Amino acid sequence: MPSHFVLAQPDFLPTTSREMVDLGWDELDVLLVSGDAYVDHPAFGVPLLGRWLIANGFRVGIIAQPRWDTLEDLHRMGRPRLFAGVGAGALDSMLAHYTAFRKLRRDDAYTPGGTSGARPNRACIVYTNLLRRAFPGLFVVLGGIEASLRRIAHYDFWTDRIRRSILLDSKADLLLYGMAERGILELARLLASHTNHAEASGFSSPPFAPQRPDVLSLLQIPGAAFACRPEELPVLHSVLELPAQESIQGSPGALLQATELLEKHVHQGRDTALHPSGDRLLVLTPPAAPLLEMEMDALYELPFARRAHPAYDKPIPAAEMIASSITSHRGCGGGCSFCSLALHQGRRISSRSKRSIMEEVVRMGDATHWKGVVSDVGGPSANMWQATCARDKDMEKKHGLCRRASCLHPKICRFFRVDQQDQVAMLEDIRSLPGVRHVRVASGVRFDLLIQDPQAAGRLIQGFVGGQLKLAPEHTSNTVLNLMRKPSFAVFEQFLDLFQRQSARAGKQQFVVPYLMSGFPGCTDRDMVDLNYWLRRKGWRPQQVQCFVPTPGTMATAMFHAGKDPMGNPMHVARSDAQRLAQHRILIPHSPEQGSEKKRNKKAKLRDGKKRSK
Ligand code: SF4
Repeated sequence: MPSHFVLAQPDFLPTTSREMVDLGWDELDVLLVSGDAYVDHPAFGVPLLGRWLIANGFRVGIIAQPRWDTLEDLHRMGRPRLFAGVGAGALDSMLAHYTAFRKLRRDDAYTPGGTSGARPNRACIVYTNLLRRAFPGLFVVLGGIEASLRRIAHYDFWTDRIRRSILLDSKADLLLYGMAERGILELARLLASHTNHAEASGFSSPPFAPQRPDVLSLLQIPGAAFACRPEELPVLHSVLELPAQESIQGSPGALLQATELLEKHVHQGRDTALHPSGDRLLVLTPPAAPLLEMEMDALYELPFARRAHPAYDKPIPAAEMIASSITSHRGCGGGCSFCSLALHQGRRISSRSKRSIMEEVVRMGDATHWKGVVSDVGGPSANMWQATCARDKDMEKKHGLCRRASCLHPKICRFFRVDQQDQVAMLEDIRSLPGVRHVRVASGVRFDLLIQDPQAAGRLIQGFVGGQLKLAPEHTSNTVLNLMRKPSFAVFEQFLDLFQRQSARAGKQQFVVPYLMSGFPGCTDRDMVDLNYWLRRKGWRPQQVQCFVPTPGTMATAMFHAGKDPMGNPMHVARSDAQRLAQHRILIPHSPEQGSEKKRNKKAKLRDGKKRSK
């Protein structure tokens, strides 16, 4: 079937050959393999891309959480005509499997029944190898957060070493980093034209698989990474040289430099980045442009079922959590140094129109299970809907491209524009829709932005908090906050004061749920004691304390690895698990991690006792 045909969107994307037959499809164009269960909701990346490709005329099927000790699951719908896409899931598979103290998790919110074990460690690598065995010669592309954040040489916390790009380790043909709608569509069109040509020449099926596109064609795909020999690369005009894999492996400082350059590559969005690795060159094309409002609307208005595939007999915790939530925008201008989003979604915000968001709420009202509560309207940060950068082309000509790592730190950039009143007005309009009882803001709110407009803050606090507001002050130490690229603690205290006054004015008992972090690079035990002292004075017993996990690709992880701040100055880092646990315990004396350590100590004592008695 030619790929430009308009295809009807199915109720669910097919997951078996039977479902393909029901749709009248004799083969797939694209097979997507996911480490998460299949939930047909726009918050899940693989179904989102699947529906996007179908809307553009490609037949797409999903294999979710395939078994990795057999090829049976992958063979279920046959060899796809164009390519297979691989995503580890909403989280890096190592992060999904292990706690901050490298203990195996028992739960997995993205799996039926909420239990772990349905996806392998390093899922991108394992799934790509399976696909290579199931369909020799098939073009395989990686995407999603695991691939995106491991696109060049990176620090791997779980093995405490530098690993090379996941593209090289997996032997996939291409990697799409960041939000992949533009890249995957370009790739599908490119491979379709190659395949059509091969079919016309009579070489249509394996082993006569269409040839891999040449370097010039791959350079046209936005937000892509591929490997080639240096001599294959044509002369490029705008190039960003990243440190080579070997120098990152040889010097921790080189990882700091590489991360800084990679942030610049994503944010400035102009250059092709080059990362030498052994005798090959990893080429990163410029990032895909953020989607325009009309493109965001079209994407989120696709007919998602908003629930898990009916084949599952157990509930999927993540699906339940997001069933009645609405994505209003993507991207975050905050650029916090520990957040993977800065490198994945980028700092430029793509927003949906108010019309599109309100229509989604109306469609949600048609579902029988809906109880009239919109559980969240937001994005990575709740209050950046319709945020823009007012720095124009003239400014760019005069002063060059923006070089800041964050639009909000160390202070809010004078070009950052966001109208908090508009956002609250949108929430009020949603609340006035027939059948809507409550509208909540459950995504994290950037209080440093909200406090700029106390009137809008008052309306949000009085009307949309639902008793609890999640805020991420993260720490009380301004040194640590500065390293995190977060606002100073005084700003949080000012906001807290405003929150309490506005809640009292509304006659509501409302609470702030503070997100705090231990073990951050640069944070000392003394800093943790000070934070604990502040909490005690407030009478707070925080539940949301996360020990810093050095996830691949972030600036904070580079600082953790190097033991230096971004300026190259040495600083204290709680490196060992014991040091990190000691910091964590200052806030959470009875954490489960402590429990398990107590058990281990008890077992060790028993063992020692037995040895002595022998
Ligand atoms: S100029 Fe300011 S608002 Fe624009 S991208 Fe740079 S930091 Fe952000």
